[in-house]
Amino acid sequence: MYNKVTLREMELKGKRVLLRVDFNVPLNSQLQITNDRRIRETLPTIQYLIDKGAKIIIVSHLGRPDGKVVPEFSMKPVADCLRMLLKKPILLSSDVSGTETYKFVRSMKEGDIVMTENVRFDPREMTNDAEFAKELAGIADVYCNDAFGTMHREHTSVCKIAEYLPSCIGFLVEKELQILGRALDNPKRPFVVIIGGAKIKDKISLISRMIDVADVLLIGGAMAYTFLRSEGYNMGRSIVEKDKLQLARLLLEKARTQHTKVVLPVDHMATGEFSFSADSVSVSTKKFPRTAIGMDIGPATIRAFKHYINKANTVLWNGPLGVAEFQKFAKGTTEIAQELANAKAYTIVGGGDSAKFIEQLDLQDKINHVSTGGGAMLKLLEGTDLPGLRYIKDKA
Ligand code: AMP
Repeated sequence: MYNKVTLREMELKGKRVLLRVDFNVPLNSQLQITNDRRIRETLPTIQYLIDKGAKIIIVSHLGRPDGKVVPEFSMKPVADCLRMLLKKPILLSSDVSGTETYKFVRSMKEGDIVMTENVRFDPREMTNDAEFAKELAGIADVYCNDAFGTMHREHTSVCKIAEYLPSCIGFLVEKELQILGRALDNPKRPFVVIIGGAKIKDKISLISRMIDVADVLLIGGAMAYTFLRSEGYNMGRSIVEKDKLQLARLLLEKARTQHTKVVLPVDHMATGEFSFSADSVSVSTKKFPRTAIGMDIGPATIRAFKHYINKANTVLWNGPLGVAEFQKFAKGTTEIAQELANAKAYTIVGGGDSAKFIEQLDLQDKINHVSTGGGAMLKLLEGTDLPGLRYIKDKA
């Protein structure tokens, strides 16, 4: 369990607090925010700072401007959105740690908010640079990291800056750590983990760790074909990672030794071509046609997965169970998402694709916790140290 210093332990009245958030929100071609969840999730932290009389300097990245000033990645839509949500004026500086930010910060009063421009406009952000960290620290008295989605990046405003200021985590990071930490250390059992997505290669450590902590592992998505192939089934022309067959076998062996049940698809929706409009038929794992391509889990698998979800007291889900971006092959993912929404279990969803899917279906209010971290959440669940956390002290 994590025990990091939080805002509650900090002296905040009248202090300039540099608040690093992850406002890397999706924008459409008119530069309008299409999903403001990451902004709304930090409101408790911002409101607390306002109430405590801090002077709040908000720093975030948006997109990948690669160390250059790229107008499409300006924080302007984010500042507009936050202004609306808080019903408060927010000054947006045209630089990050330059003269305008200094000028704005100098005239701040308690409860005021200044937002800097995109921190990734500075090429030193992504190199965990000491000089840039000192420059940023120079405008503040306290550093607060509430950027959970960026915690796995060893970047200056996420990591190095904490060496130069009294530092703490914000309430969003605290919430994510508490919920994900509890799922790992002390879940209410049975604990069922659903893993989907394209490749085993990307989730080896996650699968291995989940075998350690879960009671049941439901595996869908393309990665299931590699597991099934490793068990001797012919999977036709479905995606199979030939160089991971041995690893898949070892992971299944590990699960058997540890008595963690792994449920692989017993049937599939298969097509003759990889296309959004292809017609599909359901085929069983045992009789998979040599020329077919698996695109989604089939009806019997959906039923089996639902059975385990309904027996669970905690469910964690990451990764689509089929090619869910093609409507025809989103059925498995949709039905499992809906089952989670209705489940009695404590439900956690994380990872960019799965969280997006939950929101498309408007189910976010029926899931106990939709994590704001994609990569960061996976790293945390894998048991990998998050750099952003390493830089914050434990409570005394
Ligand atoms: P990940 O980023 O590892 O969670 O993988 C997400 C991707 O997995 C999505 O783009 C899905 O289209 C893909 N995926 C899931 N199931 C399949 C499948 N049966 N065949 C090909 N791709 C799949």
